[in-house]
Amino acid sequence: MPGLNEGSLIDEVRIHVAAGNGGNGIVAFRREKYVPLGGPSGGNGGPGGSVYLEATPDTNTLIALRGGKHFRADRGGHGGSKNKQGAAGKDVVIRVPLGTEVYDDGTGDLLADLVAPGDRVEIVAGGRGGRGNAAFAGPINQAPRIAERGDPGQERWLHLELKLLADVGLVGLPNAGKSTLLSVISAARPKIADYPFTTLQPSLGVVELDGGYSFVAADLPGLIEGAHEGAGLGYQFLRHVERTRVLIHLLDGSSADPVGGYAQIRRELAEFDPAMMEKPELVAVSKMDLPEAQEALPALQEAFAEKGISLFPISAATGEGVRELLGAARRTLEELPPVEVEPILPEINPRALDEADAAVRVFRRADGAWIVRAPWLERLSRRTAWNMPEAVERFQRTLDKHGITATLEEMGVEAGDTVIIGGAELEWQR
Ligand code: GDP
Ligand code: MG
Repeated sequence: MPGLNEGSLIDEVRIHVAAGNGGNGIVAFRREKYVPLGGPSGGNGGPGGSVYLEATPDTNTLIALRGGKHFRADRGGHGGSKNKQGAAGKDVVIRVPLGTEVYDDGTGDLLADLVAPGDRVEIVAGGRGGRGNAAFAGPINQAPRIAERGDPGQERWLHLELKLLADVGLVGLPNAGKSTLLSVISAARPKIADYPFTTLQPSLGVVELDGGYSFVAADLPGLIEGAHEGAGLGYQFLRHVERTRVLIHLLDGSSADPVGGYAQIRRELAEFDPAMMEKPELVAVSKMDLPEAQEALPALQEAFAEKGISLFPISAATGEGVRELLGAARRTLEELPPVEVEPILPEINPRALDEADAAVRVFRRADGAWIVRAPWLERLSRRTAWNMPEAVERFQRTLDKHGITATLEEMGVEAGDTVIIGGAELEWQR
């Protein structure tokens, strides 16, 4: 079985996902008669939209994701006066085939394995909206001039991987036209040309239909012949045969005895694996561009009508009937229950990952700057509007409360030193 590399048929795509930033909270005060400053009424920013990946049986390959590499959810709206909350940013849902494995492209970590229809993972979370000054009012400070900026949305590069297995198997006697048909249905569409395995794997092809729908077709008798010869075919090969859900049985319309040929292939399939007999089968008559085939067709149709089978007359040479055959294959696939795939990992929640690392680390860079690292503190830093004195004070109090000021002083921080926290470069002032 030359050309079939075990386990090498993998569809993969790299995409960038970005969640929306949270909207900013604002500082506002109610206007009241005779009162110079009314109560604080600055509303909170709305949360940014998240990006989700969702498994769907409506697509079988990652082809559709090759077009657009960037997926970005909307940002949250800013808060308004009169305590008006900003609008939530709209989420983005990317639909992927069942069995898609999702990796962090940077670390290579497996983040999710989307197995069953509807499996969904929030792969990057939208930023929290910043609080408006109304949220900061208390008994001591009744007119706070402080508001938060929204959190940035998470973003990352993902690597999606899908082990492609044949959905449709082409069967038929040698010379029936299987290879020709496969080459016509999987090569005539330009988008498929950049699929690396179409040249490496001549017995398998991706067939793309309207609306981004695609399926994988395999020249199955080729595989079966190979297995009979004991050509060292292993697990991956058998999975292709097992996974095949619909058979297209090709009869050579120009041959002497297509009915006998049909029976012969059915016997071979049953011998190879009885489960093959249970699979839905579409029967097509090939080479309809030849006069012999045209002449033979009516009698053939009659013979198969007795078995309750209606034939698809096609010609790979002219393309006649091919569309109808593929459309029928698609409908048959869509009517079948989705294939179950073993899960590898449960879903993860990206928010939980962030929260996990609560420890604060302080270290000094070669240029003398102090770096304070802790995800929660870096988040707070990004939220802080550094042009608002009250916001800066609040950040300073947080440093005091969590012992970070003490740690820095123990380590020898001095007035005038640079302290870097979450992207903000601060000058130490005590
Ligand atoms: P396979 O053994 O089933 O893979 O059959 P092939 O695809 O290799 O085709 C066998 C022969 O039939 C080749 O010479 C093809 O050129 C020819 N053939 C295949 N499809 C058609 C067709 O639609 N019309 C005509 N006229 N010849 C065809
Ligand atoms: Mg062939």
